[in-house]
Amino acid sequence: MGRLDGKVALISGAARGQGAAEALLFAREGAKVVIGDLLDDEGSRIEAQIAELGGDATYVHLDVTSAADWDAAVQTALDRYGRLDILVNNAGIGGGGVGLEDTTLEFWDRTLDINAKGVFLGTKAAIPALQESGGGSIVNISSIAGIIGSRLGIPAYQASKGAVRLLTKSTALQHAADNIRCNSVHPGMIVTAMTEDTLADPDQRQGYLDSIPLGRLGTVDDIANGVLFLASDDSSFVTGSEIVIDGGLIAQ
Ligand code: NAD
Repeated sequence: MGRLDGKVALISGAARGQGAAEALLFAREGAKVVIGDLLDDEGSRIEAQIAELGGDATYVHLDVTSAADWDAAVQTALDRYGRLDILVNNAGIGGGGVGLEDTTLEFWDRTLDINAKGVFLGTKAAIPALQESGGGSIVNISSIAGIIGSRLGIPAYQASKGAVRLLTKSTALQHAADNIRCNSVHPGMIVTAMTEDTLADPDQRQGYLDSIPLGRLGTVDDIANGVLFLASDDSSFVTGSEIVIDGGLIAQ
């Protein structure tokens, strides 16, 4: 028995990194998965990997800043699998590393468009299908940078992830009566393409290792396991809530 047997999930940014780990884990737990991303080759490879495991997944090209792409992705879930139960708003970009006064308007807009507007558009597109299913679970991937400030020079990223945290609570309250739950996940330092450059610098890598109480960096599976809990019925009384998965970093 899988923890997601009979459920259909749509995951944005699932061609690689955390989203791909979630797609693979969800499929292993019995869900049918629609994988959305801009990276068509990588996304198709995850689709094939899931088929090799005996699961069922469909890759769709999805730019999370496009309402039309979101509508098509939700429609794919309905056409292929007949329903939608789970949405994971995972797609996001990092970057920055400069102070507020050196952050360009273009970079600010791009970051807010993908990380915050993308979650709004995904939620808006999925709600009618989740209502039709009699309820469901939305998991929004924020960050520890959506909870605490940082001297690292990532103002646009912080603003975008803070927006995701409270949009999550707003969605949870508005749709509790529809039996649609909505929660946020706040990863700490996770080894993915997004953190590759930072972690390639030995000093920065050691700095993180020294500051994380559990003494190691996070893996994509650390996050996928938390997302699975929120996506599944194991968390049926959890909504408007947040899970920090950071090895204890912001508990200090
Ligand atoms: P990643 O770069 O490997 O994955 C991000 C994915 O999102 C990629 O597949 C990318 O193609 C996709 N994407 C980017 N823009 C998109 C768009 N416009 N439309 C659709 N897809 C798009 O990085 P990751 O670490 O797996 O990131 C996943 C999420 O976790 C992001 O929201 C990120 O902000 C968040 N996060 C990551 C860390 C970390 O340490 N890696 C920490 C906190 C939060």
